[in-house]
Amino acid sequence: MPRSHNDSWDLKTSVGATATLVAAARAVASRQPDPVIRDPFAEVLVRAVGLNLFTRIVDGEIDFSDLEVEWMPDYFGVRTRTLDDCARDACRAGIRQVVILASGLDCRAYRLDWPPAATRYEIDQPQVIDWKRRVLTGLGWAPAEGHHCVGIDLRQDWPTALRQSGFDDTQPTVWIVEGLLIGYLPPEAHDRILDAITHLSAPGSRLGADYIDTPKTDALGENLRRRHAVWNQLDPEIDLRNVTFAGQHTEAAEYLAERGWTTRSAEIADVFAAIGRPAPIADGLVEVASFTRMLSGVRI
Ligand code: SAM
Repeated sequence: MPRSHNDSWDLKTSVGATATLVAAARAVASRQPDPVIRDPFAEVLVRAVGLNLFTRIVDGEIDFSDLEVEWMPDYFGVRTRTLDDCARDACRAGIRQVVILASGLDCRAYRLDWPPAATRYEIDQPQVIDWKRRVLTGLGWAPAEGHHCVGIDLRQDWPTALRQSGFDDTQPTVWIVEGLLIGYLPPEAHDRILDAITHLSAPGSRLGADYIDTPKTDALGENLRRRHAVWNQLDPEIDLRNVTFAGQHTEAAEYLAERGWTTRSAEIADVFAAIGRPAPIADGLVEVASFTRMLSGVRI
């Protein structure tokens, strides 16, 4: 079903299933020799979601090469590591407020070694964030002191929900936006998120994100539609053909630079190099790298 402006989902459906896909890739990345990340939560959560295709991947029954995307664990591992490093660096520089937008099954709010005074906020759809908190709490990993789970659609008034959870816009924040600014929002909501982040960011705030650079604005949607036949044959429940919103999304780095941020936009090959990993050469990854970039920014 095509996306609509007030649609919702869980972790098996629509854009929610992409969170489960990414977690499966992180689970596999965590098992590689000299892993770029160690995410013990990913495998547990993928199993708990119960999408057959991704459960079989974490069980080792099939692997990403059967989906013709053998590069995904490397790519998502490096993306997560880069944004983990961004959050850690910000804390080292004294920032004590962390907001993770569209956190999905990412568990950096649980996983990283946060300074005791660091307040963490994760935001995602209520069905996604409540489910993750419930499952992890049931396994003995309840959110620690200072960790707030905010369930709200990011097309709604999430700044108010964030403030009501204790967020303080007079303090600098590090914002982590992983796997969202890649076509998963309608273009106007994409801009509104960047405006809201800007409005809520005290000077010295930082931002780490991946994003799709225009004009290849629905490049991800086209890529996923091409993969549908192979993935759907392996698991008829998987349908990622309509997870993106078409339309002209603004170039996030330029947009923020015009609104009081110093920004740096890096090509994926440089992101791999920065953490000492070989440049991506798989065809599929070269294609994704041709329309995806990593953004880091500091609010002046
Ligand atoms: N950041 C996580 C990661 O990297 O593992 C999840 C990325 S997943 C590709 C996309 C996430 O965006 C999903 O968790 C989905 O629920 C969330 N998302 C997309 N649109 C959203 C919206 N309008 N409101 C809240 N969350 C949204």
